[in-house]
Amino acid sequence: MAGEKVKTFKFIIVGGGIAGVTCAEQLSPEFPSADVALITAGLHIKTVTNYKQVSKTIEEFDVEERPSSVLEEKFPNLTVIHSAVRSIHAHSHCVETLDGRVFGYEKLCLCSGARPKLLAQDNPFVLGIRDTDSAQEFQKRLSKAKRIVVVGNGGIALELVYEVEGCEVVWAVKDKAIGNTFFDAGAAQFLVPSLEADKPKADVPCRRPRYTTEEPAPGAAQTFTADGSSRGQSSGSVEPGSALGPDWHRGVELRGAEQASRRVSVEYQCEVDQIFSFEERLRSPQQTLNPESDGSWPVYVQLTNGKTFGCDFVVSATGVVPNTEPFLHGNNFAVASDGGLQVDDHMRTSEPDVFAAGDVCTACWEHSPLWQQMRLWTQARQMGWYAARCMAADVLSEATELDFCFELFSHVTKFFNYKVVLLGKFNAQGLRSDHELLVRCTKGREYVKVVLSRGRMVGAVLIGDTDLEETFENLILNQMDLTPYGEELLNPNIDIEDYFD
Ligand code: FAD
Repeated sequence: MAGEKVKTFKFIIVGGGIAGVTCAEQLSPEFPSADVALITAGLHIKTVTNYKQVSKTIEEFDVEERPSSVLEEKFPNLTVIHSAVRSIHAHSHCVETLDGRVFGYEKLCLCSGARPKLLAQDNPFVLGIRDTDSAQEFQKRLSKAKRIVVVGNGGIALELVYEVEGCEVVWAVKDKAIGNTFFDAGAAQFLVPSLEADKPKADVPCRRPRYTTEEPAPGAAQTFTADGSSRGQSSGSVEPGSALGPDWHRGVELRGAEQASRRVSVEYQCEVDQIFSFEERLRSPQQTLNPESDGSWPVYVQLTNGKTFGCDFVVSATGVVPNTEPFLHGNNFAVASDGGLQVDDHMRTSEPDVFAAGDVCTACWEHSPLWQQMRLWTQARQMGWYAARCMAADVLSEATELDFCFELFSHVTKFFNYKVVLLGKFNAQGLRSDHELLVRCTKGREYVKVVLSRGRMVGAVLIGDTDLEETFENLILNQMDLTPYGEELLNPNIDIEDYFD
């Protein structure tokens, strides 16, 4: 250990994102005479506001990016330390920051989040979007771009291809349908026409979180075009800030260098084979380019389907890697196969008195049959809150039970301007092949899918303003045998809410 211990805190929380801030906000008032520290690498912290428990497990809230002084003013026993943690010495219960200070702790909670898994490290033409800085860099580069290639099929890619205007987007997905992380092919079909249409003007108030910051922001393939036509073709920074969340693009103009509105072409079932520069291309002219890709582009992306696209830059949206590196050296943290710190049902890591929450951890307890971990905003809040409860119980030698929020997976978001609610095993994840699906779809209005296993509802996807979330949540939680209702369950002429009252 380089320096002398500056101070010992009862609780240290590492990370100023949703998980860390929620944890600190719980612990500080519960132990008003104890010293609490929040150590964070970023300049701002993320706070949850307007929290609303919509139903038993569904919640909605806004998130604001704020200066850390807001927290210190609210909780006099809380100190915010702006520096990255360089190492942890679990054995001697202390952490060392990049600026050389050493702080002791009784209980530690690691909430350092995750960063984008980049297709290529140190390639200036490959961008990942994670925090406010990277979103601003993306916006700046986009304003001069005529074509970008987006790689990935999760939430970030989905939002991005929908939002970008004035720049051609080539979207490479490894699956047979778009949005595979969240939906099946049916839901993807429902959403695809939205890529063909012009984006509705932003006159509808946004119900999901908005960011405010103290500093001014600087600045076989199918082709869908905004005019409605559809063509068929054969065939990390050292000190990361906290992750963005839903609506990260609101208030940020995602416009390229062209006049046209949206033009997205999707390349299905392919991955990136290699990325090479203009100079490298000149050196190996045998690269097969698509006719429209010929010409000079700063970078070229060769896909596993044999096509090569020239573009201004590539967005790598292929998932995240938990930020664990500074903690692993010299300690015995058990790390899960996805790179997260393993935590048990009390959010404890394998090191004594060290807890973890949010994107950095992997939930390694035996999950409820209706819950799965996804690195999402809601789960970061729930885990941060529950970790605080477990740390407090540990200090007070009290027992705690796994919180009810881990009983049923629920997530509310927006894709392509539709409200999207996902419940339980919404994509039949891990179910036996004898599960059944019931679907109701009205083009342009709603897509409702329920997943039944042995007559019981175990999951649902609700796209549009269906108002079915609470009823379906209840049906999933109470595991009522729905066999007698058959397909009537989704009969639009039956008011299902009254039916099951
Ligand atoms: P983070 O918010 O990443 O916070 C980590 C904190 O740790 C940061 O303050 C960072 O500065 C700090 N830190 C990191 N390393 C260190 C260190 N060594 N020492 C000290 N501090 C450190 N989720 C949704 O639910 N819905 C969405 O629609 C959605 N959209 C998203 C869109 C984008 C573009 C992105 C990037 C994410 C999106 N997410 C979404 C995911 C969601 O934002 C994350 O799951 C959530 O923010 C994770 O919170 P966290 O507190 O665990 O980590």
